[in-house]
Amino acid sequence: VTRKNIVEIRNLGMGQFGQVILARTVGVHLMGLQQTESHTDPNGGTLVAIKKLKQNAENGLVEAFDKEVKFMSRLKHDNVVRLLGVCTEGESFIMMEYMENGDLNQFLQKQKVMPDTISGLKENEVTPIILLYMGVQIASGMHYLSSRRFVHRDLATRNCLVGRDFVVKISDFGMSRSLYESAYYRVQGTLILPIRWMACETFYGKFSVKSDSWAFGVSMWEIYTLGKVDPYEEMTDEEVIADAIRGPDRKLLPRPDLCPQKVYDIMLRCWAHDPLVRASFGEAYS
Ligand code: AMP
Repeated sequence: VTRKNIVEIRNLGMGQFGQVILARTVGVHLMGLQQTESHTDPNGGTLVAIKKLKQNAENGLVEAFDKEVKFMSRLKHDNVVRLLGVCTEGESFIMMEYMENGDLNQFLQKQKVMPDTISGLKENEVTPIILLYMGVQIASGMHYLSSRRFVHRDLATRNCLVGRDFVVKISDFGMSRSLYESAYYRVQGTLILPIRWMACETFYGKFSVKSDSWAFGVSMWEIYTLGKVDPYEEMTDEEVIADAIRGPDRKLLPRPDLCPQKVYDIMLRCWAHDPLVRASFGEAYS
């Protein structure tokens, strides 16, 4: 695709690579995208999210951007955000499916929890079953990624997107972002780490599908706390790190009030110290 294939509508947010913009396509047919009402623009064309690579980006960032593009182009799953096109001429950008409810963390913060028995939900209302449904979709998307031996390294609700009808898809394969600066820990200025989502072994550089499982447990915890508190919010970054690398008796997150014991048991299995014992996404999903 080229610039001529899109008309920009409005800003959606700011990511690590630059702006994310809502746009309408012109004269391109997007194969394989499920056309829903929310994707179809009244002027014809399809609503898409455009991720631009900011001008004068440093080399590291260009590499991360290329990595995200290569990675995404090979993926196809209902719970993984689809890459629809790439423009490499002039100002580089990628075209992704538009997720109208933005990222899961911001979405959760707006929600009010109603009883499962309620009939007819209003805007910004969810029920415990819907919370579970959102978690199951993350497990399903991650099960797919892990079966292809992809390691995300930064699974968290801020890196999942929400569409219509509580559909959740995994996004952000480029590691780290600006909006949630406080969630990352800076090591000597450049390397930044999502320490509150990290398993013990990742502090020694060992990322794997099992360290993604750990981050999945924390993401479930975020869902059941409606993204309102940071994991281990009472601890400083330095305390979190010191505790995490202590070993098997690391402090674990408590069961959120809304979280059924059965779901908390899954979280605990995601937080087994030994990666070999830790639940896989196949197990978490089933
Ligand atoms: P990112 O560059 O992925 O960190 O995106 C920055 C922000 O833009 C996110 O927090 C979302 O609110 C928004 N955003 C990113 N991708 C999409 C998308 N495909 N659909 C809708 N909003 C998006």
